[in-house]
Amino acid sequence: MPPTLTARRPWHPLALLGLLALWLATLGNLPLWLTVWQLPETHGAHAVLMFIGLGLLLLAFSLLALALLVWPRWFKPAGLLLLLISAASSYFMHAYGVVIDSTMIGNVAHTNVREARDLLSGDLLLALVLGVLLPGLWWWRQPLQAVPLRRLMPRQLGLAALALLVTAMLGWASFQDLASLMRNHRSLRYMVNPYNTLYALGRHALGRAAHAQQPLQPLGEDAVATTAATDPGQGPLLLLVVGETARAANFGLGGYARDTTPRLRELQQRGELVYFPQVHSCGTNTDVSVPCMFSHLGRAGVDRSERYENLLDVLQHAGLAVLWLDNQSGCKGVCDRVPHVDTSSLTLPDLCEGGECYDEVMLRELPARLAALDPVRRARGTVVVLHQMGSHGPAYARRTPAAHKPYQPECFSVALQDCSPEQLVNAYDNTVRYTDHVLAEAVGWLRAQAGPTALLYVSDHGESLGEKGLYLHGMPYSFAPQEQTHVPMALWLSPAMRTLLGLDFGCLQQAAAQPLAHDHLFHSVLHLAQVQTRVQRQEMDFMKACARIYSVKDARSVSDGG
Ligand SMILES: [Zn+2]
Repeated sequence: MPPTLTARRPWHPLALLGLLALWLATLGNLPLWLTVWQLPETHGAHAVLMFIGLGLLLLAFSLLALALLVWPRWFKPAGLLLLLISAASSYFMHAYGVVIDSTMIGNVAHTNVREARDLLSGDLLLALVLGVLLPGLWWWRQPLQAVPLRRLMPRQLGLAALALLVTAMLGWASFQDLASLMRNHRSLRYMVNPYNTLYALGRHALGRAAHAQQPLQPLGEDAVATTAATDPGQGPLLLLVVGETARAANFGLGGYARDTTPRLRELQQRGELVYFPQVHSCGTNTDVSVPCMFSHLGRAGVDRSERYENLLDVLQHAGLAVLWLDNQSGCKGVCDRVPHVDTSSLTLPDLCEGGECYDEVMLRELPARLAALDPVRRARGTVVVLHQMGSHGPAYARRTPAAHKPYQPECFSVALQDCSPEQLVNAYDNTVRYTDHVLAEAVGWLRAQAGPTALLYVSDHGESLGEKGLYLHGMPYSFAPQEQTHVPMALWLSPAMRTLLGLDFGCLQQAAAQPLAHDHLFHSVLHLAQVQTRVQRQEMDFMKACARIYSVKDARSVSDGG
């Protein structure tokens, strides 16, 4: 090619690799550097040294990683992909204070168009233009020297060895500082772009692969419905409402300064409803919490690869009718073997809008869907799960119909930092207030049904609304803030249900303050549904102490068929 004024000297691949490493270690990690800069440990002269040390360490590690991973054939696309990963995770870390771990990757993998749409904003577009489009265009257009692989390989491996040596030396020299920094600020290690994402992707894929190879183990095949023996045809009807992103701190019944749950309070004052103020979630996101809520192992089962049937399977083994109505992003495998209906994509004109439906849609659908279930099973008992859209963010304002927005003005932006804290809390509190309405309407409907009925509501996890600079949820559980794990739970029982359970309601009101967790759900719902099985652990049943007749246990002697 004849030289012209515009012709650029082609880059040696390793030089361009070095530039990419420099970008990733600096601009590609802005949220990390901003966070470290604001830490109390990083002030004064010593801190400057630590800052430089950390920067060099990240640069050396980036060189090592790139020299090992990026080879000529996929040089340009790999660079683009790393720019994209860095920019996107930088944006979400900065905008919402989240960090990237394998459960966050699970969330991303299981997201749907609606959820993704909720996250789109002008700020995200700007981040992608500055972090991907502009540097990516430059990267793509750079001419590369055609170095034969047999000459490039020893050099590139040499660079990797050198980078490894420097990484090890810097790591050794700053080990003390680094170790204490990571110990005191555990979120930092989930903030190193793009390796946090690559590591999390790897862990997620391995976890899924290990899980998928496991056979599904049956559970509670001995289960029987005790009311079938004692009171045929009068099986209980239980609504189990799985809330979404409702945190206990903003629940009126939990002592929140604003009365966000006036209708549930009315039920409580009438002595029909118990609120449980000390319940902690199993995970900090839907993907972890929902399967865990229905698992007999509870939180202990989260990191195990064995696959077991769940609460709904056990209820079905007992011959009960089971139904899952989903107004959100699916049941995360929990409802795979029971009848289930997606209500979020219905098009009822007064309840559905913009490709999603308000939670009342499930109540509208309920009678017809129930009627379609097997009457023989229904006579033994019915458990219906309502999986709410609830308080799903960041587009909180989209979750509530116009008639249910008492707190004004609301935040309408999904770039939550753009809203005032008051607007943000108003929009969120409106979702809790709407949930209060939906639950009270559900109770009203249950009241009109024949036979014993009950409603158990519990949220899947909480939410951060700007406390400590955090928004949304999904923090690794070991250091998740209280706002993301402390969840509301409430139980309403009809008089007939109380009689059926032999439950001392006053006792339960007293006992409600004990610390509870999602781990208790499996065992307590079996009690509520009057199902007896060997997998039920009575010490995990939050009603056990207040049941005058412990029906499950007492009935065991009646019909222990194995
Ligand atoms: Zn959730």
